[in-house]
Amino acid sequence: MNDSVNRRIVLAARPQGRPGPECFRLEEAPLPVPAAGEMLARTIYLSLDPYMRGRMSDGPSYARPVGLGEAMTGGTVGLVVRSHLDGFAPGDLVVGRGGWQDYAVFRAGEAERVEPARAPITTALGVLGMPGQTAYVGLREIGKPKAGETLVVAAASGPVGSAVGQISRIKGCRVVGVAGSQAKCDFVTGELGFDACLDHHAADFEDQLRAACPDGVDVYWENVGGRVFDAVLPLLNPFARVPVCGLIAWYNATELPPGPDRVPHLLRQTLTRRLTIRGFIVSDFERGDFLTDVGSWVRAGRLRYREDIREGLENAPAAFIGLLAGENFGKLLIRIAPAPTS
Ligand code: NDP
Repeated sequence: MNDSVNRRIVLAARPQGRPGPECFRLEEAPLPVPAAGEMLARTIYLSLDPYMRGRMSDGPSYARPVGLGEAMTGGTVGLVVRSHLDGFAPGDLVVGRGGWQDYAVFRAGEAERVEPARAPITTALGVLGMPGQTAYVGLREIGKPKAGETLVVAAASGPVGSAVGQISRIKGCRVVGVAGSQAKCDFVTGELGFDACLDHHAADFEDQLRAACPDGVDVYWENVGGRVFDAVLPLLNPFARVPVCGLIAWYNATELPPGPDRVPHLLRQTLTRRLTIRGFIVSDFERGDFLTDVGSWVRAGRLRYREDIREGLENAPAAFIGLLAGENFGKLLIRIAPAPTS
């Protein structure tokens, strides 16, 4: 890496359907110079997350889209190299939204310190970062899992789903995961301790799910939509809760699926079974005891996580395109620069 140049990946074109490599462009720019009240950090790890697909489109959403020619947005862990910001000095490790680039400038409130003594720094982008917090607050505020209940979650080997399932196990639930391969399912039951895990590609997936949930489903954590939602809907118990966290099966859709119109059926089920179906964004809720609780579960080995770390900023587009098709196995990160050894 040339230390006087900032390589960055910008949005080159808005995707129609599944994004391809032509949607991204690698550019070189001069190293940014931090002004008074700013600091400059060299990115070590870039987080790749499904929400980035939404930022590539310019339709109405809860967040501003990335502009054409603008660096792709993304969470990063970086090393401070210059600082004119009180409380931060060169050598500090910080987590913030640095974007898909080698260097990023942060102002007050835009980055938090990462303590490498507490946990590996990658966890600030995963189990102890935004995805873990999503699981924690969504369960606390909407899912409300109780001992003896059954919870179903898809994308179960990923950072959100794996935390949702394990926290619910800690609360005493029976937890059924859904994932995209036998290897992922083996990990989810063997390493993460879920009670069962089913491959959503299986021809008889719906039957397998029904058999795995003999007492119905009390909490369906919605990460994906599509076929998984259709399979879970008939199994929902009265007063079931459905935190709507993500709908990745539909992120690349360009039109509504063919009929019949199922809205009346869904609303009738919602009424007669008194379902709570509530969308949320992680920032809607206070973090509360997230770091204390999840940090102690991780240290005690009660909450495990898996990371899928790729090398090189230039490989971020292909890795992100693969994420939307389930090619990642664990929290997807790009290592852009070597991590400090001490
Ligand atoms: P993951 O790292 O688990 O990656 C996404 C996974 O989704 C893929 O690996 C794949 O796993 C699965 N997937 C992709 N397509 C389909 C499909 N058609 N049907 C079923 N599964 C599919 O992602 P995260 O843990 O980071 O995120 C999980 C969800 O949570 C996403 O929808 C994301 O947008 C959402 N999210 C929402 C937040 C909020 O504030 N509301 C915050 C953070 C995340 P597999 O191979 O196992 O199918």
